[in-house]
Amino acid sequence: MATPDLIYLTIDDGSSTKREETIRVSAEMQLEEVRSAFYAAANLSSSSTNSVLKLYRKDGVLLPIGPNTPRNSKEDRYILKSRTGNEGVDALNAVSDLLGQITAIKEKVDAMKRSISEVPDGHGAKHNPDELTPPNLLARRRPTLPSLPPQRTFTRDVTEHLKHPTFDVWQWQDDEMVDLLAHMFTELGLMTEFKLDEETLRRFLQCVKGSYNTNPFHNFRHCFCVAQMMYGILHVTNLHAQLQPLEKLVLLISCIGHDLDHPGFNNAYQVNASTELGLIYNDISPLENHHAAVLFTILKESDTNILRSLPANDYREARKQIIACVLATDMAKHGELMGRFKAGAEREGGYDMTDPAARSLLLQMVIKCADISNEVRPKHVSEPWVDNLLEEFFAQSDREKAEGLPFAPFMDRQKVTKASAQVGFIQFVLIPLFELVAKVLPNMEEPIIQPIRSALQYYKTLA
Ligand SMILES: [Zn+2]
Repeated sequence: MATPDLIYLTIDDGSSTKREETIRVSAEMQLEEVRSAFYAAANLSSSSTNSVLKLYRKDGVLLPIGPNTPRNSKEDRYILKSRTGNEGVDALNAVSDLLGQITAIKEKVDAMKRSISEVPDGHGAKHNPDELTPPNLLARRRPTLPSLPPQRTFTRDVTEHLKHPTFDVWQWQDDEMVDLLAHMFTELGLMTEFKLDEETLRRFLQCVKGSYNTNPFHNFRHCFCVAQMMYGILHVTNLHAQLQPLEKLVLLISCIGHDLDHPGFNNAYQVNASTELGLIYNDISPLENHHAAVLFTILKESDTNILRSLPANDYREARKQIIACVLATDMAKHGELMGRFKAGAEREGGYDMTDPAARSLLLQMVIKCADISNEVRPKHVSEPWVDNLLEEFFAQSDREKAEGLPFAPFMDRQKVTKASAQVGFIQFVLIPLFELVAKVLPNMEEPIIQPIRSALQYYKTLA
């Protein structure tokens, strides 16, 4: 039986011996106190910037560390993994990972090159049974799905909460997130509007789930977060009532596909290391181009092509807009998009919703907001994401150092602290972005901007 306030841990520090520890955590404790307790259990100092703690359930589900960490029992210990950086082993793992990724990417690029010549005009891309060389990408990427897992139903409480930015994204296992995403399609009226096939949708979502890598940050849960925050923004601002069904379909699919097969290393790395992705896309948004290409490769196969029943014109329009939305998530375009949107937002007579280009830009701004929206969430939900992002950044800069490539100071474990990283990002990127969007969308202040301001205060105090 679980004792309230006790959390039972098995400590895994990467060595062959595993220790057991029990810590006491109460709901009244501050996040930092709880974190210190976890660090102490792992024999680490919580001020150490180059150590990373991750808490897992036995089934591999990552849990947030904080006053609300679910309590467990002795029989069902959590695994607390601790890793300190700068170790030769890490570098070796990193290099072998990289080689693996390059081979995988090369396979996919080859497959894509082969499939490019067969992309049919318009919608309903069909698999050609006579094809001599079926795309390896699909063969490798698409999980075999002999039968779909049973579909869950959620309580009204859950589906209502799903419409709000306070939704706790850590509670759900992958298949539950798949079903929550499917629920969004239904609730937005897209299933009936576009005669989408339920089974195809679930296969599509399973395929998407399997095509996200297990990066610390850019993983399937991040994809779910972005879709859920977009869905939350549509509801709290009532934008869903103003958008056409096709625009909602575009937004939801774009969010779901926007980081597909992310390798865990950003565009700067793709360019500087002359990776396959950098080469294929001529250094122009290599990752975002790749995410969109993987998305449409999944949509090319009839059994995962949820857009199959769309009229040709709608398909073409959806594809164009989805590509624009995914490409808009490249932060290198941030300044340009902010400038264009500002002109529209400050236009005399208000934002021009009769202009198709302005509507398309609004969708791009919404996905941008959703993509970097973790600080809109309650602290116990958002804070683990900062650790995960830093873990991914540190792994990149470690590799860049090892390979003699340039590395960004904001990714350098010697220079960055969580607080310093967040203060700058919130002040100079998040707040200006959300305040600008709030000039066009109503009701952003209380549910969306206030939490960001509180997060800024929190990290300023921490700094
Ligand atoms: Zn993203």
